[in-house]
Amino acid sequence: MERTLSIIKPDAVSKNLIGEIIRRLEENNLKVVAAKMLHLSKKEAEEFYAIHQEKVFFDSLTSFMSSGPILVMALEGENAIARNRIIMGATNPAEAAPGTIRKEFGSSIERNTVHGSDSPETATFEISYFFKENEIYHY
Ligand code: ADP
Ligand code: MG
Repeated sequence: MERTLSIIKPDAVSKNLIGEIIRRLEENNLKVVAAKMLHLSKKEAEEFYAIHQEKVFFDSLTSFMSSGPILVMALEGENAIARNRIIMGATNPAEAAPGTIRKEFGSSIERNTVHGSDSPETATFEISYFFKENEIYHY
């Protein structure tokens, strides 16, 4: 069993896609073990995405991520990190595989509807950034 952090980004929340996205995660046997809605400050978005601080898109990304409410979730399942990334699709919706969340609902490489941790190390950091251990359901 593995855990990963999933975020439904402001573009998807504003388009009423929360249910559709969670349905797809659950359908693929990823269990929601923690969830909350938040509206990040710019500073919080910058802390969360600190790994990207040298990128040209950092300011735009962190403005977008703090532009409206998001739904953050810890997901649990076998190989959850890699499987969530497959269900999400490639970063750029234009290049994402058919049937993936980003292909179907993303509107640009920035407004790509969902975030997912990319390694066990980032999953640990990202989950602990948003959730205390006692806020995560243990099956
Ligand atoms: P992923 O979310 O697929 O792991 P990255 O970690 O590379 O992708 O980037 C983090 C987020 O930054 C992306 O999900 C997207 O919202 C945004 N982003 C990535 N590349 C670009 C880009 N070239 N221009 C604008 N925004 C970008
Ligand atoms: Mg990433």
